[in-house]
Amino acid sequence: MFGKKKQMINAILDTDIEVLLKQTGQYEDLINEKLICKCCGTIISIENIGIIIPVNAGEKIYLEFFCESALCLQKYNCENGK
Ligand SMILES: [Zn+2]
Repeated sequence: MFGKKKQMINAILDTDIEVLLKQTGQYEDLINEKLICKCCGTIISIENIGIIIPVNAGEKIYLEFFCESALCLQKYNCENGK
């Protein structure tokens, strides 16, 4: 099940992650290693992004990230998988 989700996300990464991050103003954060996993605090890079969560913050949307660690994916699924 995780595998399936990961594949889907990887498909997004290949095409849209850069565009997405530029839209939210977080692309520089990725380059500067300022994006961290919301669960474990690991620095997020293109290679270890597990889940991307768009968060609506008033007028702006920003992205939160979970790394690809099984524990973090499990935590995300526990909190959000219903
Ligand atoms: Zn993590």
